[in-house]
Amino acid sequence: MTVLRYPPPRLAIVVPCYNEAEVFTYCQQELGKLLDEMKKDLLIQADSYLLFVDDGSKDTTWEQIAAASSRIPCVQGLKLSRNVGHQSALLAGLEAARPDADAIVSIDADLQDDITAIPKMVQAYREGYDVVYGVRASRESDTWFKRSTAEGFYRLMSVMGVKQVFNHADFRLLSQRALSGLLEYSERNAYIRGLVPLVGFPSTEVYYARGLRTAGESKYPLRKMLALAVEGITSMTISPLRMIAYLGFCISILSLGATAYILVLKLTGHTIAGWSSVMLSIFFMGGVQMLSLGIIGEYVGKIYIEAKKRPRSHIESHVRHDG
Ligand code: UDP
Ligand code: MG
Repeated sequence: MTVLRYPPPRLAIVVPCYNEAEVFTYCQQELGKLLDEMKKDLLIQADSYLLFVDDGSKDTTWEQIAAASSRIPCVQGLKLSRNVGHQSALLAGLEAARPDADAIVSIDADLQDDITAIPKMVQAYREGYDVVYGVRASRESDTWFKRSTAEGFYRLMSVMGVKQVFNHADFRLLSQRALSGLLEYSERNAYIRGLVPLVGFPSTEVYYARGLRTAGESKYPLRKMLALAVEGITSMTISPLRMIAYLGFCISILSLGATAYILVLKLTGHTIAGWSSVMLSIFFMGGVQMLSLGIIGEYVGKIYIEAKKRPRSHIESHVRHDG
């Protein structure tokens, strides 16, 4: 028999929503049912709740959240003043839930992540784990394109030295103290998946199969995925800067070799009009230099943004059932 270290927690499930009018009702009902079951099984406290964060949606998402929160006691809504993106919206929700929850689960509104993993996460929390990662056992339901780009991204990140759990997105349970730790990372470009492992505390994984999006379109088109990848890399590691230095070193060695070769040709009288080699080296060096400047610029841009210490998001209203 497993030893339970913690009593049933007051659980908050935080769900960021951006233009999710099509899935909201389904999501709210499924999570509501799950919450009721867990309460009945005495796995969580009776005052556990759902917190939907509206990330400046342009459709009726907020109206639906507000209506649900006035009707259903366990539903709360948090409206951000504008669209700030998935990571910042999630952090706003986590911050709002921290004071009155012992354990906090974050999950996407489309329920692609299997919600039956949540009771397992709570069980792991009660056994003494502060961080429980939801990990996709398979990505069969994703398109080939989404799967290969996402896996390529995780590989690239790990080559660059960013520690993160493979095939884990933002479906996880955090204890209150782990969440407090996470919220101490005050950076604007927060890449939560990379930060959670830095917080530490005992952690474990729960596996599940990832399903299809319930309805609606992915809110992560290729453009946003690339942006997340660049954010993730440049906010977690400086290894690209180091690679520039290595590249420059290799090219310098190569050009030393080339100089020797050219000298030999010259001395043996084999010189030919060197138009092509000159053009080639101009283009090549131009490319390398612009790439290098671009990468450095990315970090300088980060310094610029972090130096301003701007708030990540603003809360327009926080609604809950008053009864
Ligand atoms: N999301 C958000 N703000 C945004 C984009 C997305 O809050 O600007 C939310 C979205 O509503 C969903 C989650 O982030 O709950 C993940 O988005 P999605 O399911 O579209 O991403 P995918 O699963 O395709 O990577
Ligand atoms: Mg999704």
